Amino acid sequence: MSTSPADLVREFHRAFGLDVRSTPTEVPPALAEQRKNLLAEEAAEVAEVSHGGLLDRLAHELADVVYVAYGTALVHGIDLDAVLVEIHRSNMTKIGPDGRIARRADGKVLKGEHYRAPDVSAVLRRQGWRPEGA
Ligand SMILES: [Mg+2]
Repeated sequence: MSTSPADLVREFHRAFGLDVRSTPTEVPPALAEQRKNLLAEEAAEVAEVSHGGLLDRLAHELADVVYVAYGTALVHGIDLDAVLVEIHRSNMTKIGPDGRIARRADGKVLKGEHYRAPDVSAVLRRQGWRPEGA
C-alpha cells in the first residue's frame, strides 16, 4: 500500500464519496467554502497546541492540516505533489551561489537576489488547467 499523502487522501475521498477531480478545476462556491473552513479549523487546532502542548497532539494536528490540504487539492483536481516540487525548487534558490543565507530576525529564511519565484501556474497548466479568460 502506498503511504504517500496524495494516495491516502484519495483512498479516503473515494471511500466516503467525497469529490475527486483529476484536472485542475474551479469548484462550486459551497464546496470551496467547506474546504476553506475545514483547513481553517485544522490550522487553528495546530495553533492551539503549538505552545506547551504535548508533542503527540502537535503531530496529530499537523498531519490533519496536511491531510485536509491534500484533500482540498484533490477536490480541485490539483496534483499537489507536483506543486510541492515547484515550491521546493523555488525555496532552494534562496541560497545564493556563495552559499550565503539571509535571515529575518525571527529566523525566517529570506529571498536573496538569486531567488526564483515558483511558477505554479505552469505546473497547473501541465496538469491540464485552462484558466478562465486566458
Ligand atoms: Mg485536527
